[in-house]
Amino acid sequence: MKNNFNLKDFFNSFRVRIAVLVLLVGVVPCTVFVVSFSSLYEKQAVNSDVTDLVSKGQVLNKQIISSGYLNQRDSELVDNQLEVLSGNLSGRIMVIDNTLTIIKDTYNADEGKTIIWGNVVSTFQNKTTSVYDDDNDYLVVTVPIKADGDDDVQGVLVMNKTMSYIDTNLEYFQSLSIILCLILYILMLVLALFSSDYFTKPFRKFCSVIEDVENGVSQDVVVVDDFTETADVSNRMNSLLNRMRVVDESRQEFVSNVSHELKTPLTSMKVLADSLNGQEDVPVELYREFMQDIGEEIERETKIINDLLSMVKMDKAAATLNIAPVNMNELIELILKRLKPIAEKQHVELVFESFRPVTAEIDEVKFTLAITNLVENGIKYNQEGGWVHVSLNSDHQYCYIKVEDSGMGIPEDSLDHIFERFYRVDKSHSREIGGTGLGLAITKSAISMHKGDIKVHSVEGEGTMFDVRLPLNYIAKEVR
Ligand code: ADP
Repeated sequence: MKNNFNLKDFFNSFRVRIAVLVLLVGVVPCTVFVVSFSSLYEKQAVNSDVTDLVSKGQVLNKQIISSGYLNQRDSELVDNQLEVLSGNLSGRIMVIDNTLTIIKDTYNADEGKTIIWGNVVSTFQNKTTSVYDDDNDYLVVTVPIKADGDDDVQGVLVMNKTMSYIDTNLEYFQSLSIILCLILYILMLVLALFSSDYFTKPFRKFCSVIEDVENGVSQDVVVVDDFTETADVSNRMNSLLNRMRVVDESRQEFVSNVSHELKTPLTSMKVLADSLNGQEDVPVELYREFMQDIGEEIERETKIINDLLSMVKMDKAAATLNIAPVNMNELIELILKRLKPIAEKQHVELVFESFRPVTAEIDEVKFTLAITNLVENGIKYNQEGGWVHVSLNSDHQYCYIKVEDSGMGIPEDSLDHIFERFYRVDKSHSREIGGTGLGLAITKSAISMHKGDIKVHSVEGEGTMFDVRLPLNYIAKEVR
């Protein structure tokens, strides 16, 4: 277990990333909203006030023109309306005539004075203007005074409005939003911690399961079905564990079989030697007989070891296959020639039937071993005067080899087991004739290595037929 804190590991951790993501998703939009709301609100408030002032100015303009206020300045109605509006706006309203003289000032400060200000001059060119002073919180709007449908500007209406309400509203909004944001940040933090813990829970479960497997604690079924994806991983892990278990069991079984098989000849030798040593004045003939038996046991032990070695080589050989095109007719003829003496000894006839010349890409040594085992079995498990028939055929894709005999056959319930290591139908008979139970396991593994397959058909008391099918061209990788 690593205890040292590592910053890179910390930031690479799924948990931290989920937490950061949740925080960002909650905090960033909230902060952006709060920050941008102030300036948006201010802009919106100023715009709406400008529109409002311009329309109020236009109403006043009509009354000023109709009352001739610019020339006589004696309309009480207009004076009243200017005062009322000034009060409503908490600001100053000025009426300026075409000589740039202030003829009405609701603050009564500058009446009679001349005003020279860019916005007033622009308004005389028939434009409405507005200025917002953010620092001093006021808005100035100028509206031209003119008759309806006339472009001739006769005066200018200057309207001030105090805008301090914007700051008041903003201050209220900001204090409210700080409280709301703080609550939201805390909620987000809790959510981030909770969700990072929730989403990483399956990983912790997987870790503990793997740790159990590592420590050899039995773990029958892994169930991490928190999410569909983890349920899927669990299922795959279960089948992997299952496979590991099967491999482990078969390894244990194999080791115990091997030790048992190797011990049997040793036990026999020990019994023979002990019985010789336990007797006094043993006749030479008995010595000779026992030594002959011991010699046979040594031979058997050697055969088991050789078969084991071939099998181990087969297991490792998948990567080291020595593939080359081989004339199968010649190869089978050679195998049968080598086995002929054994067949003759058993009075079994060997027949080879070839339907066509066949060339296949194979590892000659390993394939020879596979076919030799089949023919040897055909001879071994036969009767005097019996026969073993080998045939070779092919199509454009596969080569077919049949090894058929007239021997004792295999009981139906054993057919599924004969390719297992150390499996023998009749242990004592097989032992008598020198069987180790490894021959067909070696054959099957050699054929599988060539991506071929083997099938067996047998009728007890009548005979057995092994059907081998092999691709003519070696397939390096199986296409799934
Ligand atoms: P063994 O070394 O005992 O022959 P194999 O793996 O070659 O081992 O065969 C496994 C068992 O299958 C044999 O012990 C035998 O009982 C049975 N068997 C194999 N081939 C034949 C056959 N041609 N006829 C009858 N029985 C057979």
